[in-house]
Amino acid sequence: MPRARTHDAITLALAPPTFLLTHALTGSRDLAWLVTLATLFSGFLFNPDLDIRSKPYARWGPLRVLWWPYQVLVRHRSRLSHGLLLGTFVRTVYLSIMLALLGATGIVLWHALHEQPGASESARQAFDLLKRWLLSVERRYWLALWFGLWWGSAAHTLADWLWSLWTQTKRLL
Ligand SMILES: [Zn+2]
Repeated sequence: MPRARTHDAITLALAPPTFLLTHALTGSRDLAWLVTLATLFSGFLFNPDLDIRSKPYARWGPLRVLWWPYQVLVRHRSRLSHGLLLGTFVRTVYLSIMLALLGATGIVLWHALHEQPGASESARQAFDLLKRWLLSVERRYWLALWFGLWWGSAAHTLADWLWSLWTQTKRLL
């Protein structure tokens, strides 16, 4: 497989054309930025190789514990992580669940430390607030975010495929 450095270089090289193309297509600088930043985030921190102890995994720092269950559940290079559409979808759902759990744990711990009751009430309020905020964001921003996340990871999977194809062809020649 291409090394992490190669994947990083591909991600960086994709950023300018991604920005220019989405800007040309949507006429919106905000959307172009969002797509480009999501592509960079996906390529550097959110890519399919999170299914092993890899460079993107290390980049999460102390938060990399969030990916431990993922690495146990998902076999390296399986469709769940490297699938062209499925990979990003699974990771997005997974990370959302983990962040929600992290938030809920934080609220419960805060209440325990301050010896204050009502942890579940606080958790519900935080959930309502989050829900209201998520629903207030326009759909095109969600689409731009999702597209960028998909694109950054899809480039990784495509590079893996091309690399396999090339090494196989080389063996035949
Ligand atoms: Zn890979």
